Amino acid sequence: MPHSHLPPHPVLSLHDSQSRATVPFTPIDPAHVKVYYCGPTVYDLAHIGNLRAMLTADVLVRLLRYVYPRVTFVRNITDVDDKITARARANGEDIGSLTQRTTEEFHQDLASMNVLPPDIEPRATHNIGEMQAMIARLIKNGHAYEAEGHVLFSVSSFPSYGALSGRNPEDLEAGARVEVAPYKKAPGDFVLWKPSDADQPGWDSPWGRGRPGWHIECSAMSHRYLGDSFDIHGGGSDLLFPHHENERAQSLCCFPHGKFANYWVHNAMLLVEGEKMSKSLGNFLTIRDVLAQAPAEALRLLLLGAHYRSTLNYTQAGLQEARKTLDRFYRALAAGPVPKTDVPEAVLQALADDLNTPKAIAELHALAAQALAGDRQAAGALKAGAGMLGLLQGDPEQWFKGDASDEDAAIEALINERLAARKARDFAKADALRDQLQAQGIVLEDTKDGTSWRRA
Ligand SMILES: [Zn+2]
Repeated sequence: MPHSHLPPHPVLSLHDSQSRATVPFTPIDPAHVKVYYCGPTVYDLAHIGNLRAMLTADVLVRLLRYVYPRVTFVRNITDVDDKITARARANGEDIGSLTQRTTEEFHQDLASMNVLPPDIEPRATHNIGEMQAMIARLIKNGHAYEAEGHVLFSVSSFPSYGALSGRNPEDLEAGARVEVAPYKKAPGDFVLWKPSDADQPGWDSPWGRGRPGWHIECSAMSHRYLGDSFDIHGGGSDLLFPHHENERAQSLCCFPHGKFANYWVHNAMLLVEGEKMSKSLGNFLTIRDVLAQAPAEALRLLLLGAHYRSTLNYTQAGLQEARKTLDRFYRALAAGPVPKTDVPEAVLQALADDLNTPKAIAELHALAAQALAGDRQAAGALKAGAGMLGLLQGDPEQWFKGDASDEDAAIEALINERLAARKARDFAKADALRDQLQAQGIVLEDTKDGTSWRRA
């Protein structure tokens, strides 16, 4: 898919968090665009909030690859973290086996979501030397200090601290969220290196055996693979402060001749049925939870249905709606031959306008309508346009067959639950289950031999 022609077409605009504006995207080197995204901390299955950031990156990188001849996309793996140590201990599992297993699960889940892998996926534990070199340099040039086995970044040494997230340092110090520790010169100073006891993972260093703070990992890995200045740094909006603010401070103080990231892209958060996703609310959804009940493309379409900077409300109804949309799109493809065509201009323009995926999807709806009315060029354009969003990648016949076994099992479980409710004379529950099945397009027929079902 990469085009070799320059200048790039179409002109891409992106919302840059630091300038708080949507601005034209001008790469440092149009012959080679460089992107860094913060990857997962590997101790558990990825949830659909994590997926939203990975999908935003995926659409951005697909578009960049279409426009520019070469793109290097780096996404790290954080495989040293106190959450990992705690989980390994709770599982009675070795840290290495936990991070290995979780990394593999993450790869499988993203592959099943058709998220393309990064070009380089560095692991934090393979870059400890780079982190130590950066920390030593920060101490040498007066931006960091050693205290009780810790090395801390001195926020007051960097006047531009807070410029990315729009917070000023006085607010930060007044804020209750900074960790207060006796060895800090100022409450906002953050950890670059901390001591490890015998039970914690650790590496020898000039400051004693210890482990890196989280923020320095990304600064070291982005520098190693992308240099002093690169084009785009991205992640979820929850990373803007303190993680990205701190990455920026470390990197600019360590490499003052570079610019670190020229553009910052942040996706908004995701709600589940209108509520913040949390384990305590019981609405915590892993990618696997959703894929047990719907095809991957339905989840993908649902998540791309909102602009990445808008809060996305994940709902069951939305998932069913996305599935029906895909039924329609696949019907449009299946209705006749699908000629190979270019990506339609309207889809490209929508995506080039700060990744306006809802608008791109609206264009796909229009193309599907034309294709269903007999326009086979439109069917080709539908497939090519959907490809930019990583959608309609399957064979229509396969789509309509579906992963029938899992789904059928889920439907039959609901039917059995309804029969049990009827036996218990809980008719309200039985009716609610019937409605739920109906919403999924399942028609029930009660006969003297039991209940049979079919898809509407
Ligand atoms: Zn990061």
